[in-house]
Amino acid sequence: MTGKAPFGRVLRRTRAANHRPLAEVGSIALLLTTLATTGCNAFTGLEDLEALTGAGGTADPGAVLVAADGVTITRVDIYQGPQIPLFGGPTFDIDLPVIVEREAVFRIYYKTTGDVAGNAVTARVTIGEDVTETPATLVEGTSTEGSLQSTINVTVPGEALKASSYRIDLLQPRAESSGTNKAASYPEGDAEAQEDMTVTNTGSTLKLKLIPVQYDADGSGRLPDTSEGQLQIYRNALYRMYPIPEVEVTVGDPFPWDVPIGPGGGGWDQLLDAIREHRAQSGAAPDEYYYGVFTPTETFGEFCGGGCTAGLGFVAGPGDGGMRAAIGVGFPGEGSAETCAHEVGHNHGREHAPCGTFGSNDPEFPEDAAHVEAEIGRIAYDLVNGGIIPATHKDFMSYCEPTFVSDHNYRKLAERMQQVSGFADYTPPPGFPSGDWGQVTLFSDGSLKRGATVKVSRPPTGVPRDVDVATHSGNQRVTGYFFPFDHLPGGILLYPPTENVREVAFDWAGQRHVAK
Ligand SMILES: [Zn+2]
Repeated sequence: MTGKAPFGRVLRRTRAANHRPLAEVGSIALLLTTLATTGCNAFTGLEDLEALTGAGGTADPGAVLVAADGVTITRVDIYQGPQIPLFGGPTFDIDLPVIVEREAVFRIYYKTTGDVAGNAVTARVTIGEDVTETPATLVEGTSTEGSLQSTINVTVPGEALKASSYRIDLLQPRAESSGTNKAASYPEGDAEAQEDMTVTNTGSTLKLKLIPVQYDADGSGRLPDTSEGQLQIYRNALYRMYPIPEVEVTVGDPFPWDVPIGPGGGGWDQLLDAIREHRAQSGAAPDEYYYGVFTPTETFGEFCGGGCTAGLGFVAGPGDGGMRAAIGVGFPGEGSAETCAHEVGHNHGREHAPCGTFGSNDPEFPEDAAHVEAEIGRIAYDLVNGGIIPATHKDFMSYCEPTFVSDHNYRKLAERMQQVSGFADYTPPPGFPSGDWGQVTLFSDGSLKRGATVKVSRPPTGVPRDVDVATHSGNQRVTGYFFPFDHLPGGILLYPPTENVREVAFDWAGQRHVAK
């Protein structure tokens, strides 16, 4: 696709530049030509003019940029994924934040008010003190939402998106424009004015560690595709949908595995449990997501010809670092990466969006017409491939296609990432039993396994359970937390530190489970 707007120039402007009304820029430039010999430092704004004109100090007065004639800005949207109207656009029930330091596309809607079609303009987006400029050509008529060609699109790199206010200017050289058209700027009026926008800091990086599972159940020792090209596909699948400035994909050492994994779900829970334990033993950071990838057959078609389970993960809470583990098929191509984005979505606490799924869905998924059958609620922009994504796409937490992230899940992911990134300086509530918690895995066939202890330093957010722990010195009842698998029965129980455990009993899914 070719709709991706080119990167604009990024200029760092000193504060002084903002104190000058645009209309005066030209006259200052004229003055400079006479004052230059007496020393530039005496003249406030010289550096600004150099930056603004790009003229390297030669200050050709006709080249100085002023407001463009014959054009009126009618609306501005920002996209880092789902559409966020900044002014003049539709209103939505779900407010989406602008993500600090994530690349963004500003779409400037305008109408022409004279014979100006074909004229070149410079579109300038100012965010706080950071300026991005992009050349554009005016087209006749009025911009429409469905046509990227009808709007001026400015790609703002993440480094220029730090402040919580913005300003838009459409500019032309002084020699070509009167410089008096206030409607070529938003907000109008004071050239220093900026409009507020809601911004959120979700942290800097989504960290995904791929664990290549060496599949030996068929004696092949087959490894999944972790070539540079395939890693980029994983990265892109996450980056285009997750509200975060960067996605980092790393690869761990091969993980030997000889238990058969079937398309119907057999063997999946055992591998997920092993990858989760591997994560715990590897000293992973609390915000690191482990994703085990494997190829149980030569090709995806061979494995999944009659339908299959493609991934499995935990629906984890914000403080449940130990549960940030999932697994999925690792065949070459985008399918495996889309599965990864879905499973890592579960690890971010996202449940299923209601289309094509079985079992329970996200109870908070909106039920209005814009979200029927898990539609994404509004149009979006694809930062990886360029181009508009129609509002009829399906949320990536559903089983329907084609997928993108809905406004609902985009906001929920942003909230979660903000929580996870904010946990660096977390202190648990008084009396919370931090330390080595016990764990029991309930496999999908009903069998149980008591695992090694795990470090827990925050209240887990699984489903609370009464747990009866029998020890050599008597029985005690404690509160544990159960984390179900997303696509299979069973899951993991965590319970507070206890010495000399003989037996752990709890209820789940209407049954008593006793792990010896
Ligand atoms: Zn799922």
